[in-house]
Amino acid sequence: MANLPVNKTAHPFDKSRFEALLNRRFFYAPAFEIYGGVAGLYDYGPPGSSLQSNIIAEWRKHFIVEEHMLEVDTTIMTPAPVFETSGHVARFADWMVKDLKTGDVLRADHLVKNVLEARLAGDKEARGIAAQPVKEDDKKKKKKDKAKPTAVKLSDEQVVEYETILAQLDNYSGPELGELCKKYNIRNPDTDNEVSDPVQFNLMFASSIGPTGQHPGFLRPETAQGHFLNFSRLLEFNNGRVPFASAQIGRSFRNEISPRAGLLRVREFTMAEIEHYVDPEDKKHERFAEVRDVELDLLDRHTQVAGSTQVTRMKIGDAVDKGIVANETLGYFLARIHQFLIKIGINPSRLRFRQHMGNEMAHYATDCWDAELHNSYGWTECVGCADRAAYDLTVHMAKTGHPLVVRQALKEPIITEKLVAEFNKKSFGKTFGKDSAAIQTIIGGMDEAQLTRLQGELAQGSTTITSSDGREFKLTPDLLTIEKKTFKQSIREFTPNVIEPSFGLGRILYVLLEHSFWSREQDVERGVLSLPAVVAPTKVLIVPLSAKTEFEPLVREVSSKLRKAGIFSRVDDSNTSIGKRYARNDELGTPYGLTLDFASVQKRTMTLRERDTTGQLIGEIDEVIGIVTGLVDGTIDWAEACRRLPAYDGVQAVE
Ligand code: AMP
Repeated sequence: MANLPVNKTAHPFDKSRFEALLNRRFFYAPAFEIYGGVAGLYDYGPPGSSLQSNIIAEWRKHFIVEEHMLEVDTTIMTPAPVFETSGHVARFADWMVKDLKTGDVLRADHLVKNVLEARLAGDKEARGIAAQPVKEDDKKKKKKDKAKPTAVKLSDEQVVEYETILAQLDNYSGPELGELCKKYNIRNPDTDNEVSDPVQFNLMFASSIGPTGQHPGFLRPETAQGHFLNFSRLLEFNNGRVPFASAQIGRSFRNEISPRAGLLRVREFTMAEIEHYVDPEDKKHERFAEVRDVELDLLDRHTQVAGSTQVTRMKIGDAVDKGIVANETLGYFLARIHQFLIKIGINPSRLRFRQHMGNEMAHYATDCWDAELHNSYGWTECVGCADRAAYDLTVHMAKTGHPLVVRQALKEPIITEKLVAEFNKKSFGKTFGKDSAAIQTIIGGMDEAQLTRLQGELAQGSTTITSSDGREFKLTPDLLTIEKKTFKQSIREFTPNVIEPSFGLGRILYVLLEHSFWSREQDVERGVLSLPAVVAPTKVLIVPLSAKTEFEPLVREVSSKLRKAGIFSRVDDSNTSIGKRYARNDELGTPYGLTLDFASVQKRTMTLRERDTTGQLIGEIDEVIGIVTGLVDGTIDWAEACRRLPAYDGVQAVE
């Protein structure tokens, strides 16, 4: 439960009730369900789609509008050479193992994690300190490849060893995972069979472009390359200046080995990615002072390597000053990611930033942090934030020859003096014939010290150059002179570095639903989703006491006034009690309800109900519309609404 109002007593999180709610109210469902479904593919229903759109709208405001980012929308289908150059063809892979008897495929790191976690849980049970005994129901519903804890006591050393491995799990290479399986006798939990050595499996979906199949392509596994390939146009759009950022929201595809965690691991998902281009020599951020005091829970790489997962709460300003986070720009984005997640309703006590360990980080990255959200599956990476250095732009420029660089006029030109060799071409040609070019190349490649020596020898009459095949050539001052020349450089050319925050929207949406879900003590069967108004699919529910025609003009009036105020509302005039109608909409996360009763018709009053407290206020129709508009916009809160309107005590309704 995330942001429950104070004084609220709530039933503990019940996953089966939560999943039943999402399914019943069609937040999302397996795609192609009536054909049996395909693992890792999901369709969103009406509330899920609206929730996702609202998260995206807020993301646009929070990042694109606030930071003047340049939005792009690039293609999903990508020719193979792009991903060959970016390194995805060679390296965008996970390690998988096969059950040696059944051939079932398992992701190697997930297997190690599941088995060791189950052994630790079994140990706790055996010691009688199980935090939460496994419910019979859950045991029956055991998911495939999820190891079942059995009450077996481990030695104290084993407990420490397993905990250390789990803290460092993301740092193991494929062969190391294979060694762990052997050393700790890790087998397929479904069959208890041994597993093979890990092999790499590339996660990209391959395709071909055009009727002849001559042009291989891939569905993109991230949106980033589309930004990089358009870099020179974006730079021009930004008047040639850095820093600036491009942003893109779009679909990505990954052929996950065994997607079994609902929306958390899917094969097609929506990403929102930012590529922030910055001068490699100046990674300060001009707005860093605004976020300096934002406090984050940080889990740095040293803590993990030491076998612990204990977070440290720290101001981002201090983390950057101490060098824990590599630079201001990266720190700025970590703070902005934190602010965004809290704004949409993520529980701050279940959000941490975990730094990548050495092996886990891409070889070119200089620092990388994941925003991880805690949920019923454990801690899940929902946003990655990496400093990718100059890698992507450099490799695409090297491959295509297209200049992906910034040319910057220097405020102060740089004046340098250098020794330069000048050849008397005529006499050089006459003296050395076809060897002239080779000799000139040797001299052209000399450094300052070598040229100084040559200059000195020429001043004394002559010098000798030896070619690569060992021949010697005598040079005299009539053939060449070596002199100091002054150079003025007024343009600096560099490849920018890229800081990349990368959001998986499905993961965020799912965890947000978990964090928002609870049920009232007095009505545990029905859930409530405490979604903040900013992302709630419907903001206001209009509830006429009955479907009688005398209510129609008022319903139309309230509905049209809310529409004009830009507030998405729905009318529920079904034939059930008002309480039931509210309860149904609590399940959809609708934060406010307006009730029209007979008093409304006579006195032009209506009541306003708040979802989490179920508190009700009453006021004149236009006044209430003004208040509810302020509540939805976030310009006032419920406490303020309670100051402005009297509480509704239930006596105003006239039958
Ligand atoms: P990555 O490029 O692997 O760092 O992924 C960036 C973000 O995409 C992650 O932080 C996740 O939120 C999301 N993501 C990655 N893989 C998946 C997946 N299979 N299903 C859902 N979201 C994913």
